[in-house]
Amino acid sequence: MERGRSPEAIKRMADLLRAGAAMLSERCPACGLPLFRLRSGEVVCPVHGRVYIVRDESEASRITVRSVLEELERFVAHSLSDVVRRAGATSGNSVADELRSWLDVLERVERILDMISTSAREEGLDDSDKPRSSQSRNQAS
Ligand SMILES: [Zn+2]
Repeated sequence: MERGRSPEAIKRMADLLRAGAAMLSERCPACGLPLFRLRSGEVVCPVHGRVYIVRDESEASRITVRSVLEELERFVAHSLSDVVRRAGATSGNSVADELRSWLDVLERVERILDMISTSAREEGLDDSDKPRSSQSRNQAS
């Protein structure tokens, strides 16, 4: 994960500013660079392009956690289908054990993902002005 401000990133920030984009106080959850609002209202990271608007650290870490978990979910799904494919050739309890342990992981991942999205929804209720890229598109600033 790149954290430093590489010359390339600086150049892109300069290009964005030249194009009339506004530098925001929010930062990219992936690299920590400041985000920019384009004239179209779209919010972009100079390195990663289009990103979520992140208001605070907890939201930033939630987005990071979620993307890691989603990656893990894909990995588990892939491993499960691998086990199933090999199941015909292998016999005995090892296949069942392997399936059980992958399903355990999957269950945990989904429970955490569920927890994260539930807490995001609850905070959304007290926080109706939370910036969202889909909403901010309509706001002229
Ligand atoms: Zn970034």
